[in-house]
Amino acid sequence: MSNCIFCKIVAGEIPSVKLYEDELVFAFLDIAPINFGHVLVIPKEHHESASSIPEAVAGRMMKVGSRLGIALKRALDYDAYNLHLADGKAAGQVVMHAHLHVVPRGVDDDFRWNWRQLQYADGAAAELAGKVMEKFKLD
Ligand code: AMP
Ligand code: ZN
Repeated sequence: MSNCIFCKIVAGEIPSVKLYEDELVFAFLDIAPINFGHVLVIPKEHHESASSIPEAVAGRMMKVGSRLGIALKRALDYDAYNLHLADGKAAGQVVMHAHLHVVPRGVDDDFRWNWRQLQYADGAAAELAGKVMEKFKLD
């Protein structure tokens, strides 16, 4: 896609610090990391949403992302890593070319996801699950 910053990175038209590339995916350092070493893994082909990425490419993204997470731990003495993907603006997606964040984590890194824990009323969880699965499609 001509106006996409991540397509331009794949094409070498915008500089990046590349960690890995194969026929399906491209991985490079995030320019504004949560922790140093924060990586983005992207499909080479333009997809705005993760839901349209072919299964083989999505699988490669997950494999490369998790192996890079291990490399970050070993090379930079991190304790763990988060894999994160924002799909849609309301979820925090800013660059509209799907990307998997690999965020290296340390026990004392002072970064907290803004996570909350709601509670279902009696019967509400099963009712909700039924509604969702009426719309679920794998193809
Ligand atoms: P998201 O909010 O999930 O869409 O994340 C977009 C990410 O892309 C952010 O973490 C940005 O720091 C990162 N980013 C934007 N432009 C560049 C760039 N030119 N090179 C590397 N990372 C970038
Ligand atoms: Zn793109």
